[in-house]
Amino acid sequence: MSMHSYDPALTDLVFAYMRERLQLDPVPLDHPGDKDKLDRVLAGLLGEQGNDPADVMRLYAEQLAPTVISCDSPRFLSFIPAAPTKAALLFDMVVSCASLQGISWLEASGAIAAENQVLRLLADLAEMPATAGGCFVSGGSAANLSALVVARDTGRSARGLGAYDRIRVAVSDQAHSSVTNTLRIIGAEALVVPTTDHRLTGEALGAALAADPHPHDVAAVVATAGTTNAGIIDDLAGIADVAREYNLWFHVDGAYGGAGLFAPSVRARYAGVEHADSLVIDPHKWLFAPFDCAALLYRNPHLAQAVHTQDASYLDVLHTDENQVWNPTDYAHHLTRRARGLPLWFSLAVHGTRAYTEAVETALTLARDTAALVRATPHLELVRDPELSAVVFRRTGWTAQDYTAWSDRLLAGQVGFVTPTGWEGETVARFAFLHPGTTMAMVREILDTTA
Ligand SMILES: *Cc1c(COP(=O)(O)O)cnc(C)c1O
Repeated sequence: MSMHSYDPALTDLVFAYMRERLQLDPVPLDHPGDKDKLDRVLAGLLGEQGNDPADVMRLYAEQLAPTVISCDSPRFLSFIPAAPTKAALLFDMVVSCASLQGISWLEASGAIAAENQVLRLLADLAEMPATAGGCFVSGGSAANLSALVVARDTGRSARGLGAYDRIRVAVSDQAHSSVTNTLRIIGAEALVVPTTDHRLTGEALGAALAADPHPHDVAAVVATAGTTNAGIIDDLAGIADVAREYNLWFHVDGAYGGAGLFAPSVRARYAGVEHADSLVIDPHKWLFAPFDCAALLYRNPHLAQAVHTQDASYLDVLHTDENQVWNPTDYAHHLTRRARGLPLWFSLAVHGTRAYTEAVETALTLARDTAALVRATPHLELVRDPELSAVVFRRTGWTAQDYTAWSDRLLAGQVGFVTPTGWEGETVARFAFLHPGTTMAMVREILDTTA
């Protein structure tokens, strides 16, 4: 049988595995793997001759899969967990099996129309204008990079600066590491604005610009709507005012926290987001989509198109009717792209937005209840009241080594995956909630081990 013909046995094999994986409840956390052992297991597998698919699948299921910590386990509380809906996971297979790309309207109008419906829904939640639009990219890092390239070029041309003139971007000392990387990649310098209690305010931004000898070369400001470590939302309204005064591009990084726009209990904290020139929300984080999916929205997509459209004669055919077509490839630094917004579209269409609101609120409630429990526990201290779904706390008397040993013990016992974090130079503990299946009983079980 040729490798391009349909093989019922191979199909059954893979579908059977997926059926089983989809039914795991809860998904086991699993453990990190040992490099030498993995090398041994994989040795000689890729050769001129193929292998029996059942053997390869068994090797994956028995040897590889258990060394991948399940980020969709309700006990995965490190970094940013994942909790894709079953509908989104299943439709992700459709995107694969139908080879759905979402490059251009010419090739993929139906897929793009559906992706744009989701982008519109997110823009409406943020109260961005009807002109807003963009595309889905692989992650928040790619989205920050694509948006800030537009900010840089738009800022340079508005200031009459050349392509190699100095340009700066105002960022807080709490901005995500991908923003630091972006500035290095795009050759922009940072104007680092100090924060008050880890929050960037319009007042601090205004003061930094007023005190700066060359505010003219500051072209943009990056605000964070939900810092990854502690879930802190910057003073978006105040920053927007200062951005307008200084003609700065206002970029809002809501990769993690943007999902909170669905939650009435915290929506007011995002006041000012409607002024964003660009906004990033990662559905593969808190909007329950599979990897890799980040929504990138521009207030004025034409500016992004002018910067990102790739100029190649074989692509000319894509750019014929400017009013009719929407080419997602023109709004970020990519060309070929998977129609990665469709799993979210399918899940939203199947479940409705209320289910999303409830799932986001569930994590927010869990964070508040956990904070209350931490406050009520004598040997634990809350570092900061949670604003979103991250809870940062300390165990009094513990050293960095104690936190690491505790984290290792929790994982070894499959009680939880909880890694320490840094806070003002100190090692502390952190929970990142997001999975609707995480319960207070699990939290109590974990906190009991700190006694
Ligand atoms: C996660 C995160 C990013 C990076 O997103 P990726 O999808 O991991 O590339 C950027 N900014 C913030 C605030 C984040 O939480």
